[in-house]
Amino acid sequence: MKGDHGLTVTQSLTRRLKNPELFDDLAGVPGRNAEQATRRFSVFNPSTGELLAELPDMDVRDVSLAIDKAEAAQEHWAALTARERSDILWEWHQLILDHSEDLAAILTAEMGKPLAEAKSEIAHAAAYLQWYAEEANRIYGETISPPSNDRRMLVIKQPIGVVGAITPWNFPASMVARKISPALAAGCAIVLKPAEQTPLVAGAMFTLARMAGFPDGVLNLIYASEGDAVGRELCSNPKVRKISFTGSTAVGRLLMRACSDQIKRTSFELGGNAPFIVFDDADVDAAVDGAVQAKFRNAGQTCVSANRLYVQSSVYDEFCDKFTKRVSALRVGDGFEPEVSIGPLIDKCALAKIEDHIRDAVRQGGKIRCGGNRIGESGTFFEPTVITDVERTMRVAQEETFGPLAPIIRFNNPDQVVREANDTIYGLAAYFYASNLKRVWRVAEALEYGMVGINTGRMSSEAAPFGGMKQSGIGREGSRHGLEDYLEMKYLCMGGL
Ligand code: NAD
Repeated sequence: MKGDHGLTVTQSLTRRLKNPELFDDLAGVPGRNAEQATRRFSVFNPSTGELLAELPDMDVRDVSLAIDKAEAAQEHWAALTARERSDILWEWHQLILDHSEDLAAILTAEMGKPLAEAKSEIAHAAAYLQWYAEEANRIYGETISPPSNDRRMLVIKQPIGVVGAITPWNFPASMVARKISPALAAGCAIVLKPAEQTPLVAGAMFTLARMAGFPDGVLNLIYASEGDAVGRELCSNPKVRKISFTGSTAVGRLLMRACSDQIKRTSFELGGNAPFIVFDDADVDAAVDGAVQAKFRNAGQTCVSANRLYVQSSVYDEFCDKFTKRVSALRVGDGFEPEVSIGPLIDKCALAKIEDHIRDAVRQGGKIRCGGNRIGESGTFFEPTVITDVERTMRVAQEETFGPLAPIIRFNNPDQVVREANDTIYGLAAYFYASNLKRVWRVAEALEYGMVGINTGRMSSEAAPFGGMKQSGIGREGSRHGLEDYLEMKYLCMGGL
């Protein structure tokens, strides 16, 4: 169906939406010349292959204009009172809740995740806006006891300025909210490039932001079919004071290099290789529940996904049997179908990677306990898979699979397993199940990860600092710490008193 603005959106999607005008932001971009206006890119539904939209494919000139607009708007935005900024964020939060069903449908259509998961992601995105609407009112400085009485010393916090934000496809709504809301609360202006596979929900959220009353230029959206040129402009334009990126470690490295010329501030949320350890004093049923959640949410396409499961020998058989039974019962399909808990993988490359990991593991002695195959010829559906007898040297234990594949490694030595869990370039999330209090503390402290789930398979929250150690990133998002990442600290010293 052709919309008023030359937008193509499938009828099946628009019929689902109560407010198809949420797509208004997908219209043409003002100020583009005729040659620019002809370049568009397509967004597809990964479950059905349907074309969902054709968006303007913006280029470096668009990015540069957006940065200029952001710079012009930022001073005014920062000059509002904290309460005024907070009120607009609250309004945006409310509008997102009011439109949550439509936003969830858009998200499921473009990304594939089950509708129930999409709804919970929208609620999570709204929770970030709520949290930072509150946090906007809590920006504090400090005073310092001066070493001599003729001067006074204090520290104030000020917004960093214009922020360039780049988000991935796996959580296309909550990643946007998690970056933008603390930046806005701090008084920054934003230029955001969402992932090319999933730009529609970001567009709809920006439409709601405009309705909420953000001044023109404070929030700027870049649609682009790839990230390279946009990333280069955001990193090299001196008006952009900070880059906030969530995505792969490989792209994070490129951006860090590109930011080094200007010593630009950066926040990076990058890849992971989360261990999930089940010790012999664990509640095995609870561990099975936790592992299903930590591994198969979002079809395993999460940065905090349990990528390698370590299970102690004495509970290994029980865990593997119960876990395999639960995983075999997971239903795969189109996220709009009821009862589906595993949607498609995002694309054919993701499918090829999971197949490579399985081949490599089986060749070296891994045993497939369930799954292991594609579903259908044309789509990107894959059976939820469990492989046992995995060795830590196999690719499946070394690399982030980013799919519905759970490799299980048997262990005997509890001290050794923590060392093995830490033996990776990543340090984002780790999980373990145990009941002995001494062990719980020791292991929690020894794991070199930014986030540790103890007897739980789920830990993301707007109230907590999300982020990684080592090559999983720099900085934290969520909580009061997430706000600090968008503030500069300035020391003032007043003399002659
Ligand atoms: P990706 O790095 O390929 O892409 C992420 C974003 O970067 C997209 O918007 C993409 O267009 C853009 N991009 C790609 N190349 C670029 C370049 N050269 N310059 C600038 N931008 C560029 O990652 P992905 O495949 O979309 O996402 C999966 C990865 O993201 C996984 O490794 C996952 O662990 C990670 N991730 C991390 C977190 C976290 O919070 N740590 C959250 C979600 C995903």
